[in-house]
Amino acid sequence: MIIILKKDFEERQMTNLTDWLKSNRLDVHVSKGVNQTILGLVGDTSTVDIDLIRGLDIVEDVKRIQEPFKNANRKFHPADTIVELPGGIKIGGGNFQFMAGPCSVESVEQICLIARKVKESGANILRGGAFKPRTSPYAFQGLRDQGIEFLLEAKRQTGLLLVTEIMDASQLPLFKEIDIIQVGARNMQNFELLKELSHLRKPILLKRGLANTLEELLMSAEYLLAGGNEQVILCERGIRTFETATRNTLDISAVPMLKFMSHLPVIVDPSHATGIARLVKPLSLASAAAGADGLIIEVHNNPPCALCDGKQSLTFETFNEVATAVRNILPHCCR
Ligand code: PEP
Ligand code: MN
Repeated sequence: MIIILKKDFEERQMTNLTDWLKSNRLDVHVSKGVNQTILGLVGDTSTVDIDLIRGLDIVEDVKRIQEPFKNANRKFHPADTIVELPGGIKIGGGNFQFMAGPCSVESVEQICLIARKVKESGANILRGGAFKPRTSPYAFQGLRDQGIEFLLEAKRQTGLLLVTEIMDASQLPLFKEIDIIQVGARNMQNFELLKELSHLRKPILLKRGLANTLEELLMSAEYLLAGGNEQVILCERGIRTFETATRNTLDISAVPMLKFMSHLPVIVDPSHATGIARLVKPLSLASAAAGADGLIIEVHNNPPCALCDGKQSLTFETFNEVATAVRNILPHCCR
């Protein structure tokens, strides 16, 4: 349920109303916009008397929210959420970021070289997997703790921010200096992990599951928001369909649809969406045009020899070309 307040309400009146709502065991989220203040109610609102609230002096309107996601709902929070990172780097609300780097951290030399190169092309955030969710237990599983150390060395050398995937809450102590914690597609509905991450005050990059609906993605975001972590970035990374020509099918409509449903920033991963390096440029452009707030792209110093996902990884030259092409169209995109 949302309560829209009249423009000229007094602070004291609002406090009285929120205190009363809280005494009815409801959580109240205040969203103050330029033109409107909205109180979002979370909890069992079935007993709330809508007509009584509508009759109050300071209330303009009251609406029930049908969707099961509340905190993540655009109706609760009409303004775009802007995720703020160290160094004044922002994502969302018109701020676009490139996250780039290898699928997996392979050595300290490799990650530091890639960091320097993607930074030269305009990326502010370095990606690189240390803990890798692999389909086969015989495939390279990532350098794990050592991979995190190598990422931190790349951060020291270049000043780039870091995004890397967590697979289990027990790994959290290693993530202290990681700027954005990624929850991968396979863990999107690991609710216990989401609950742990909801207690942090650190941005979470939440990737859409291989076969999950947008509502399910937003319900997973809801776990993070409900625990008090408001810095959530959504990521469309392709879904399973009957098509086999590409690794997954990029659901480009997810970008404007998620932005309609939610206030959270939305980025796209064209690398995992297609599995084919050649398709990364057109889909990056399409994502930006559709209103994405950023891109996460796999880049490798020697793609044919990559330990993981070489076929979809861009060379430094191609990444530079993609980043330049995207920057050129950004002023014309529907954000
Ligand atoms: C990744 O980003 O390295 C990754 C494994 O992605 P996803 O969870 O989307 O498959
Ligand atoms: Mn990968």
